[in-house]
Amino acid sequence: MAKFKPRKERKYGKGSRRCRRCGCYGPLVRILDLYLCRQCFREVAPKLGFKKYN
Ligand SMILES: [Zn+2]
Repeated sequence: MAKFKPRKERKYGKGSRRCRRCGCYGPLVRILDLYLCRQCFREVAPKLGFKKYN
């Protein structure tokens, strides 16, 4: 049997960034040193002057 080297998995969990608003993990958008998930970003963005996230 051939030896397959396991892929190194990126570390998620401790150290990973969380949404500052709701604290969830996931795709985060960084704006103004704030890390927000997409849902929070949509809610906060208009207040910060962002019309759309594109
Ligand atoms: Zn959030």
